[in-house]
Amino acid sequence: MIVEDNALNIKLFCDLLAVHGQEPEAVTDSRNALEAARNFSPDLVITDIQLPHVSGLDLIRLIRKDEELARIPIMAVTAYSTSEDEERIRAAGAQAYVSKPISVVRFAETVEELLTTSSEAPDEQPDDTTSEFVDGPGPGEAGGEES
Ligand code: MN
Repeated sequence: MIVEDNALNIKLFCDLLAVHGQEPEAVTDSRNALEAARNFSPDLVITDIQLPHVSGLDLIRLIRKDEELARIPIMAVTAYSTSEDEERIRAAGAQAYVSKPISVVRFAETVEELLTTSSEAPDEQPDDTTSEFVDGPGPGEAGGEES
């Protein structure tokens, strides 16, 4: 489910989701978002942060407080991408965020990731996690605290 007030973004997000086999539902007025989420029971909520009426941050908090909706993964999309904004978005309860203008690849990867982690059995590990165990520490961990 997509909560977004900008028609071009709605079109773009819907197209991207449809290409990946999803059946997107768009909500343009965030005041209707909670009710729509209860009706659709979406696998994922993608919400803009800059929304009139109920802001994306408030919407994320409302979803997280809602008994029925609290476990749905949330991906925020925002034009602002300072680390402070990201912290606030994550603190509100979103698992991921993508900054605008969005990268089509990053958008698709993040959607895939959230849908996978929320619905798949725990024994199916992504490739890079597996190779970490085979090869020892990955490049990200090399030279950490030894110097
Ligand atoms: Mn907006």
